[in-house]
Amino acid sequence: MLSCKQQVARSSDYLDGQLSFRERLLVRHHLLFCPNCRRFIKQMRLMSAALRKLPEPLPTDLEQTVERMMREQSR
Ligand SMILES: [Zn+2]
Repeated sequence: MLSCKQQVARSSDYLDGQLSFRERLLVRHHLLFCPNCRRFIKQMRLMSAALRKLPEPLPTDLEQTVERMMREQSR
């Protein structure tokens, strides 16, 4: 089983669908047993979804905007 550190190192590739089948299985397996990493992945997913939706040009209150979007999405 992956350690949390190995898991975190793979997280962004996992979310981007960049992992090989075998690596993806390792990550899924880890997530199954590790609530901490599940929460981490979920936050990363919300964050990248929020970032993709940001208007151009970037608002000056970027942090608050992202936080607000994440709050709305996690409801
Ligand atoms: Zn973990």
